[in-house]
Amino acid sequence: MPIAFDNSYVKLPQRFYAKQAPVPVSSPELIAVNHSLAETLGIDPLWLESDEGVNVIAGNALPDGSEPIATVYAGHQFGHWNPRLGDGRAVLLGEVIAKDGERYDIQLKGSGITPYSRNGDGRAPLGPIVREYIVSEAMAALGIPTSRTLAAVTSGDAVYRESRLDGAVLARVAKSHIRIGTMQYFASIEDTDGLKLLVDHIIERHYPDAAKSDNPTLAMFEAVMRRQAYLVARWQGIGFIHGVMNTDNMLLSGETIDYGPCAFMDTFDSSALYSSIDQQGRYAYRNQPAIANWNLTCLAQSLVPLFDADEEKSVEMAQKSLAQFSEIYQAEYSATFTKKLGLTSTQPDDEKLIQDFLNLLQNQHCDLTLAFRRLSELPVAPEVIKPLFDFPNSFDDWISRWQSRCTEESISTDDRHQRMMATNPAFIPRNHLVEAAIQQAYAGYFSMFHRLNKRLAQPFEYSEADSDLALPPKPEQIVQQTFCGT
Ligand code: AMP
Ligand code: MG
Repeated sequence: MPIAFDNSYVKLPQRFYAKQAPVPVSSPELIAVNHSLAETLGIDPLWLESDEGVNVIAGNALPDGSEPIATVYAGHQFGHWNPRLGDGRAVLLGEVIAKDGERYDIQLKGSGITPYSRNGDGRAPLGPIVREYIVSEAMAALGIPTSRTLAAVTSGDAVYRESRLDGAVLARVAKSHIRIGTMQYFASIEDTDGLKLLVDHIIERHYPDAAKSDNPTLAMFEAVMRRQAYLVARWQGIGFIHGVMNTDNMLLSGETIDYGPCAFMDTFDSSALYSSIDQQGRYAYRNQPAIANWNLTCLAQSLVPLFDADEEKSVEMAQKSLAQFSEIYQAEYSATFTKKLGLTSTQPDDEKLIQDFLNLLQNQHCDLTLAFRRLSELPVAPEVIKPLFDFPNSFDDWISRWQSRCTEESISTDDRHQRMMATNPAFIPRNHLVEAAIQQAYAGYFSMFHRLNKRLAQPFEYSEADSDLALPPKPEQIVQQTFCGT
């Protein structure tokens, strides 16, 4: 059997999903197979690249053991409640147990209409598929929890958005695709039995330790909260702006999902916002932690029927838990940035040191990625990234402060240098590069796509041959807006 499915979500009651096979496309052609991920999942990458494999990714053939379903969920989109969303253009083929012992979903995205498609066509244009492939894999290489991309194909069918675009299908892999919005769905229809089943499923799958607690639901909620805090702090650390942090786009597993209008900032700007559909700036960079908190509040509200039989007590428990978020987040944020600064301990003044550096970057219009990379180089070998970036004189005071702070650490300068080089990437999927790969793909060429994937698989290894990929955009290359492309 080419894919050793071991499905669990489909064993939940029928009201959790609709049985739905992918809808075939006319003439699939392979874009790429992610060899290392395939191997981790115990799938032969060469089989995936064969006609049979390509047909499976395209949704034209169902592999043995697959039990395709579209799952139901609800969610708050830009703060507005939507009682029924669901997989409108995706089907879960099934789950596999990977070599790391973890259970992973294999889902097709852009695989045709489902009962949850509403007015959509169930398809995805090539551009967003190319973006998701590059960015999700780059995030994984950066060590940030994320859904992954196993493979992608073009469909041979047109997709109509503002214009006629080539269509594509992507095989997405995640520890699960269960969202805050999935909990909200069962809570909103007052299906407490369903809610309980879902909580048990989540605990078994993602938070087995919570089962040992006196109150497993509360323990699970707090574990989700910690993972969200960690995730968003890590996003902030690399300047990632998700763009659509709706409750249906936040996974309970704590992985990043839904690479729609996402973007990486070049010049540091805490108000950075790229999404064309976010007029109010709800999901701007600086709002991401508060939105995570908002989303977790929605999750807590959904779980109120399960925290305690007494509703009043239950609400109190939810509030008490939620009140910890700011502190948990702040600790993750500090941990993220002290690590970026090469510090192995934390001191009370470190938060100010971090903030002052970010303020300087903002005021001096400096590139976030290059600044931290250059800082990593400063103590030892300034030649590597220096040609790309120099600190203006206004940084002198701050740099002396940082250097004197570093002397209070017990590690050697070289050790710090090595650690910082492994923390602060030289390469990120800059918007203009991703955009160039997308434009090329629409013209039928995938060289930039492949080049970016190869480079971004090793984001901490600087390579002179790819120096152009480390550079911020020239003024005419700056991407001002990103589009969902749904
Ligand atoms: P998103 O903004 O991509 O998270 O999507 C929000 C909701 O719209 C989800 O329920 C999606 O399944 C659905 N959706 C997005 N694009 C399409 C499409 N092209 N066809 C059908 N449903 C879609
Ligand atoms: Mg979504």
